[in-house]
Amino acid sequence: MSNFKLGLKFAEELDQNDDLSSFRSQFYIPKDKNGNELIYMTGNSLGLQPKITKSYINQELEDWANLGVEGHTEGKNPWLHYHEFLTETMAKIVGAKPMEVVVMNSLTANLHFMMVSFYKPTPKRYKILIEADAFPSDKYAVESQLRHHGYDEKDGLVLWKARKGEELANYDDLEEILKSHGDDIALVMIGGVNYYTGQFFDLKRITKLGHQHGCMVGFDCAHGAGNVQLNLHDSGADFAVWCSYKYLNSGPGSLSGVFVNERHAHRKDLNRFTGWWSHNKQTRFKMRDDFDQLPGAEGWQLSNPPILSMAAIRASLDVFKDAGFDKLCKKSNRLTGYFEFLINNLNHKDIKIITPKDPKQRGCQLSIQVKNADRTLHGKLMQAGIVTDWREPDVIRCAPVPLYNSFMDVYGFVEKLKTILVISQGYK
Ligand SMILES: *Cc1c(COP(=O)(O)O)cnc(C)c1O
Repeated sequence: MSNFKLGLKFAEELDQNDDLSSFRSQFYIPKDKNGNELIYMTGNSLGLQPKITKSYINQELEDWANLGVEGHTEGKNPWLHYHEFLTETMAKIVGAKPMEVVVMNSLTANLHFMMVSFYKPTPKRYKILIEADAFPSDKYAVESQLRHHGYDEKDGLVLWKARKGEELANYDDLEEILKSHGDDIALVMIGGVNYYTGQFFDLKRITKLGHQHGCMVGFDCAHGAGNVQLNLHDSGADFAVWCSYKYLNSGPGSLSGVFVNERHAHRKDLNRFTGWWSHNKQTRFKMRDDFDQLPGAEGWQLSNPPILSMAAIRASLDVFKDAGFDKLCKKSNRLTGYFEFLINNLNHKDIKIITPKDPKQRGCQLSIQVKNADRTLHGKLMQAGIVTDWREPDVIRCAPVPLYNSFMDVYGFVEKLKTILVISQGYK
């Protein structure tokens, strides 16, 4: 399948033939104490800073300094409309229509706001289905929603588990769960790309299954947005949420994106929590009007948003626009394929990739399972100038990001990994 080769020369050739390679220089790459660039493989946790971000934020600081409150309407990028500057590019990246997307709040907060609208338990149908190894924040959020509605979380939570001895969730099992419990399940809420295994789920298939059984279906795409083609509109999902600080490079704790399918855009019967930013823009500042809900995802906003954080998102989205998301995904495929090829070539019994082999079922992340959960391997990589993360119980997550990671990064990573494995554990 692959036409990859071993050796330094081939890695250099891959970089030379990569027409996105110049984007790396548009980012700050973290360095070690001696000023050498680290091999940064944790863009799945916190994406790197684009060099243009500072100027985007400075623009807003300046308008604030010079204009004060008038910046809302007179600023270079009037703050009143600031979120609208993000919508189109963000919608493109997640594969949605602009009216289906808004940037607001933080991720877990948005997950709750979506559940206010799309988790409507009844005495007969009140359960929530999640993947067994869901991101902890999602699990806590879902459990607290169950409790909030008066249900026992142990009884109310249905887990889609990988089979014994397997790492990846299996669609046959999901079908089976829905066949036997579908009538009890109010909401199916899955992480679009699992944070631990890197498995990219078939959103359309899951949505179809959920809907067949009368469930609402939503996704947390924190590990998908900016990483894979989510095609949210086409998936038919009722809602999705994601953050902007992982693959979307918008800075620590930055705001979250929300998708609400257009079929819900004008619904007034859906329960929701509202604020003045959910209200009709034309009459928002009359301040005396009865509530007049904005259509589309914007109608789920509550507050006027933090502009400085939005400026960082805007900068990042402009880099994505320049590069082209389709091209990035294509490079990502090749970069991760090459990474996989080199690791498999080590053929070392102490490590195993648990991420799906099928490129359509993963993004850029590869999760390397370490035998006997030997955490020291992660520490040794760190010492060798490679930034990855360890996730309990036994995985090192590595994400070569097509915007700023090079084929040489990947090559250098595996060369160092090889040395570490040989020296510290030996080929046995
Ligand atoms: C990163 C991540 C979070 C973090 O939530 P915050 O509210 O931004 O702190 C939640 N869920 C998933 C699936 C994530 O990947």
